[in-house]
Amino acid sequence: MLGGTFDPIHHGHLRTAVELYERLAVAEVRLIPCHQPPHRQQPLASSAQRLHMVSLAIAGEAGLQLDACELERDQASWSVHTLASLRARLGAQVPLMMAVGMDSFLSLPSWYQWRQLTHYAHLVVVTRPDYQALYSAELQTWLDQHQTQNADLLHRLPCGKVLLMQLQTPLAISATQIRKALAQGRSARYWLPDQVLAYIQQQGLYL
Ligand code: ATP
Repeated sequence: MLGGTFDPIHHGHLRTAVELYERLAVAEVRLIPCHQPPHRQQPLASSAQRLHMVSLAIAGEAGLQLDACELERDQASWSVHTLASLRARLGAQVPLMMAVGMDSFLSLPSWYQWRQLTHYAHLVVVTRPDYQALYSAELQTWLDQHQTQNADLLHRLPCGKVLLMQLQTPLAISATQIRKALAQGRSARYWLPDQVLAYIQQQGLYL
């Protein structure tokens, strides 16, 4: 799973999803837009608009799937609950991985029941150009207990490991910079798919 606000989805998310799919040889990468992100300000686009932008972005891409499970729950989107329900659907033995960018990983100790995430899934942390791997002592200790360099282990165990993954094409693209550019009347083209940009313009988003 790759969860996110996706306000809007961009090529940083999409290249990450494709690389995860190919390099980890997983059956699918599920993009899961969150309903009410607990750790940050509320999104500018509605849940339905963010869902639609993700579906436009991944249309026809084998391996990438949209999962609206968090939007169907009318409450805060806690990752630990999402993983628990995915685990319940998959059964105890199927390997499950949650991917996060380095910025999200650095904030992990502020997440609800964060230590339990690895009870349900592996964590795959992908690099982001603007974020250095400077861990707090708490996170470093936890990482030392869970980290593996061996991606095969993620297929042999159902959950419990943390893998750091260097992206082949790290992209310094963020949704914040896209919203800001659009609000200032600047071009956001090539940071995100044209179909998504056309939808943003048609809906009058981020002005
Ligand atoms: P914002 O700028 O609004 O905070 P964002 O661009 O970080 O948004 P999110 O939807 O918050 O996008 O991100 C969802 C997930 O994708 C997070 O785990 C985040 O770390 C990761 N991610 C976002 N952008 C990139 C990128 N350019 N490269 C790798 N991972 C990314």
